[in-house]
Amino acid sequence: MSRYWSELTRGLVPYVPGEQPKIQNLIKLNTNENPYPPSPKVVAAIDAFDKARLRLYPDPNSDIVKSALAEYYGVAHQQVFVGNGSDEVLGFAFMAFFKQAKPILFPDISYSFYPVYCDLFEIKSQRPALSERFEILLDEYSSDNGGIVFPNPNAPTGRLVTLETIRALLQRNTESVVVIDEAYIDFGGESAIPLVHEFPNLLVVHTLSKSRSLAGARVGFAIGHADLIEGLERVKNSFNSYPLDMLAMQGAVAAVQDVEYFDATRQKIIASREWTVAELEQLGFETVPSSANFIFTTHPRHDAAGIFAALREKRVLVRYFNKPRISQHLRITIGTQQECEALLAALKEILV
Ligand SMILES: *Cc1c(COP(=O)(O)O)cnc(C)c1O
Repeated sequence: MSRYWSELTRGLVPYVPGEQPKIQNLIKLNTNENPYPPSPKVVAAIDAFDKARLRLYPDPNSDIVKSALAEYYGVAHQQVFVGNGSDEVLGFAFMAFFKQAKPILFPDISYSFYPVYCDLFEIKSQRPALSERFEILLDEYSSDNGGIVFPNPNAPTGRLVTLETIRALLQRNTESVVVIDEAYIDFGGESAIPLVHEFPNLLVVHTLSKSRSLAGARVGFAIGHADLIEGLERVKNSFNSYPLDMLAMQGAVAAVQDVEYFDATRQKIIASREWTVAELEQLGFETVPSSANFIFTTHPRHDAAGIFAALREKRVLVRYFNKPRISQHLRITIGTQQECEALLAALKEILV
């Protein structure tokens, strides 16, 4: 605390990202990174880039990335926004659409960056509770609001809301923007992107960090009506003209275009997830149905914090949230099949 801080800064409770440990030989299942490297085409594109060009500023509009995304998702170029990771895209969306007199709505258990943005941008919120089984009950999102945001699948539960339910929400909530954070949709859900053609207040936010193995490149994007995208551009161009660097752009284009690699790696992760859930069940764990690259699991007879600590001693890092309602759960990222097997071997030793 410094007397030079503004009142706003004094009141902030910043987001705490999962640990990025400096220790070697750790099985890192704590931040939902992809266990597989980026596509070889991504590596080749970055290698082939003429580094002398780094003396120049990058294209402020990241047009090559927008074009690749527009083609892949079957939308117009003006319906695509890109930013420095989807966290930045979400931040811009909160600023552009959610700074309203009415409170925004998001689930009580959800991505922990949302309340941080609310504090930073001084946005009020209401947080309808998930069901006992951690379902998002969109019927309860019917009050007058300044906006709605939720991840689908939800984080940290992995549970999916169906497109039908989302469509019903959009049909009744026409006066504010609905942001769907699809960071994990490629691991088993159906994207709401096609609905942007029907609903001018829908913004779908995505990232290349998870399903396209590019967390280190920091590329996120949003798809919606051109008017929403224009709003995001206004905020972005009032903050930072160049959120994407040249190397990130080269990598992002190659990642979006290598559909074969994208499909192969996500299918491997889905298969390992199903294997892991079945094996955990044998050990007595109860796992929330997951459509993501992580699972949310609890053991009726073993304390979650204790398992977390014991796994860490065995050099397996998972995520534990000491928060109301979820303090007996662990969030475990799906690694390679070999890493999942190592997780299970460690748990078998811990639970004896
Ligand atoms: C990981 C994650 C993001 C942020 O991803 P970026 O790396 O910033 O693109 C956004 N939303 C949710 C729910 C996430 O889990």
